[in-house]
Amino acid sequence: MFAQPQDIAPLHKRHGRYPQATSVEDFRHNLAAVQQRIANACQRVGRDPASVRLLPVSKTFDEAHLRLAYAAGCRMLGENKVQEAQNKWQAMSDLVDLQWSVIGHLQTNKVKQVARFASEFQALDSLRVAEALDRRLHIEKRQLDVFVQVNTSDEASKYGLAPEAVADFISALPSFPALRVRGLMTLALFSADVARVRPCFVRLRELRDRLRELAPQGVGLEELSMGMSGDFEIAIEEGATVVRVGQAIFGARAMPDAYYWPTADALAQAGE
Ligand SMILES: *Cc1c(COP(=O)(O)O)cnc(C)c1O
Repeated sequence: MFAQPQDIAPLHKRHGRYPQATSVEDFRHNLAAVQQRIANACQRVGRDPASVRLLPVSKTFDEAHLRLAYAAGCRMLGENKVQEAQNKWQAMSDLVDLQWSVIGHLQTNKVKQVARFASEFQALDSLRVAEALDRRLHIEKRQLDVFVQVNTSDEASKYGLAPEAVADFISALPSFPALRVRGLMTLALFSADVARVRPCFVRLRELRDRLRELAPQGVGLEELSMGMSGDFEIAIEEGATVVRVGQAIFGARAMPDAYYWPTADALAQAGE
């Protein structure tokens, strides 16, 4: 329904140098600019901008910058690595209404931390992790919103389930009642070529639409978390309900993307 070949939207290059935000004003300005881009993308395809949640991604930025983002109105922050997220959660526990979304791959030995402090986990792609999380959440007497991560780009270097594996995976999730399944998440192909990025988002939406018919009781599959600083307009045109945006709000990161999404070689070495 959203797949109009309307690729005139500026596709900011992934490594475009977004300036560093260093004041509350900078953050207000950047948040407003991103919201405007969201509104424009929604308008192109007749969507309500209120149907798209902006998740600011704060990884690699220090506590002082996160506090500026909070002062500018951010109440949930996305972090890719558990240890970094936990350190920030501890340091900022005075901000009682600040919530944390873990958006990066999780190993079972980090499940305990996530069950303690996270409100949302967007990268669920193994039943072992689901089971371990559910067990820890019962101990903590907490629940957790989760998104199932899907590899829509066929890149060996990406985490996430193959699209064909998602139906079986989701049918197993009702065994883990502390997990509230919200929807699907993906990272598109890393390319400045819109014609190669868009099909990843289309694929996630079509998968969600198909699975929604079959989803077991209690499994919600409303949400589509897709789109980052470089491609979120395309994701919105294809139905994103959550966009995860870091650099367009905080400024360009020094770290290469390969640090967060390891290559297939690095994964093999780590025994994953
Ligand atoms: C870092 C990250 C983002 C945000 O990327 P930006 O280029 O900073 O907008 C989105 N999703 C995940 C999983 C990430 O790790």
